[in-house]
Amino acid sequence: MSSGVEIEGLTGDIRFTEDGRRRNYTLDVMEMTIHSAKARIGEWSDSKGFMAVPAKYVRPPAFSVIQRNRTYIVTTIIEEPFMMLKTGENGEVLEGNDKYIGFCKDLADKISTMLGITYEIRTVKDGHYGADNHNGEWDGMVGELIRREADIAIAALTISSERERVIEFSKPFMSLGISIMVYKPKKQDPGVFSFMSPLSLEIWLCVFFAYIGVSIVLFLVSRFNPTEWKLETNGLINHVSVSNDPMWFSLAALFQQGSDISPRSTAGRIVGSVWWFFTLILISSYTANFAAVRTVNRMVTPINSAEDLAAQTEVEYGTLSSGSTWNFFRKSQIGVYSKMWDFMKNRKHVFVKTYTDGIRRVREKKGKYALLIESPKNDYTNERKPCDTMKVGRNLDAKGFGVATPLGSPLKHQINLAVLSMKESGTLMQLQNKWWMERSECPRNSGDASESDDELSLSSLAGIFYILIAGLVLALFVAFCEFCYISRKEAKKCQISLLDAMRAKLRVTSEVQQEPSTSRQFRDNDSMPKL
Ligand code: ASP
Repeated sequence: MSSGVEIEGLTGDIRFTEDGRRRNYTLDVMEMTIHSAKARIGEWSDSKGFMAVPAKYVRPPAFSVIQRNRTYIVTTIIEEPFMMLKTGENGEVLEGNDKYIGFCKDLADKISTMLGITYEIRTVKDGHYGADNHNGEWDGMVGELIRREADIAIAALTISSERERVIEFSKPFMSLGISIMVYKPKKQDPGVFSFMSPLSLEIWLCVFFAYIGVSIVLFLVSRFNPTEWKLETNGLINHVSVSNDPMWFSLAALFQQGSDISPRSTAGRIVGSVWWFFTLILISSYTANFAAVRTVNRMVTPINSAEDLAAQTEVEYGTLSSGSTWNFFRKSQIGVYSKMWDFMKNRKHVFVKTYTDGIRRVREKKGKYALLIESPKNDYTNERKPCDTMKVGRNLDAKGFGVATPLGSPLKHQINLAVLSMKESGTLMQLQNKWWMERSECPRNSGDASESDDELSLSSLAGIFYILIAGLVLALFVAFCEFCYISRKEAKKCQISLLDAMRAKLRVTSEVQQEPSTSRQFRDNDSMPKL
């Protein structure tokens, strides 16, 4: 009888029986965890059937008795404001647990008092939170708990399903989510002539030429129209068509003001009507655009969400390496986040060793780097000097920080109770206020468009004051020139020196001021009184 088919395949010998069944083979039995992570839990072979693989992380039966005569090792990581190094008041070096301060130090003190245990804080040797480095080995605080080098981890350690398989977590003592930290854009200085920005330079030029054109047409149509001529004491007068009168009429209409001259002929009135319509639309558009331009100037942030980050490559972004945030993107099945992971994994330099490095990079790159950071740290940093960072968009996920212990630790249950009772009594909230709100160094609302932003500052409207001052100075100058010119004319007429003519004119002016009726007479006669 033939023994069936035997071939050399990629995975070794492949054998089939005569009736086409495969024989002599082994299959791995995998278990899927919540985040679709695969865990090998056994083997199945056609000869021996199912065989369980001895589990690497066994949950030993919990000892419910806490040993109170020993000092528990608490592993932590230096991270503001969770755990910070404290220097003595006179610069003296502090010893033991006293050299630490922060939210987690207060939490550790409270938990130890509630459990009646003593503890010693040790910072994690490799400076990591803890991630699985593919060989099934864990680094960071998680690794130290697994290897039982520490008894408790009290830090900003995020609860995750992967970690929960190898260590135990208490109920969360703080809620958070992954958020985006960006460089806060500096408020743009609108410039003294910002009142010009609602209309482009082309439009300003066109308006100027339109004004000149309208004045010329008005002059022409009024000049040849008999209705514009009026018989007055000093002859036949055309009120619209004299020297600069059409210009004065058009200017008044442009600025929505009235003038004492207006065209009376049909043609002149047509010109006046279309010009009024033109200025109406122009001024309304200017007003509407003025508000819009101011809003745009207020804050220009190209990145406002994870979607914005994923859609571009100009602003680089990264996470803390070997942490839960890094793992979130690595494992994510959501389109936007996996696209972001592809971007990050191809640019290894975007990952940072510590949050301090990442925040420094956000500040130094001035808008060209965004950090994906957990929300409590983001909120804290944004309230610290130099107040140049900010959080944009909503949180990408929702999770919590927990106190971690090795699998089967007798402390777990008691720590859980302590965390829950501190939550219920408001102690955790008080601690959070103490380390977040009360330590704020930045003015309130410095990141948002606050009420004061709605006010127009002097600098943005200084241009109109400059124009006003320039107009007044010009008017004084013109008045002086006119005074000199008329005095010269009078000096010539009366054959006296210019200085005498000026003096006489000044004397007459002051007399006229005291006796206003003379002024009227002077104007009406339009001649100098006898000197
Ligand atoms: N708290 C995080 C962790 O536990 C740090 C991070 O990755 O953002 O890993």
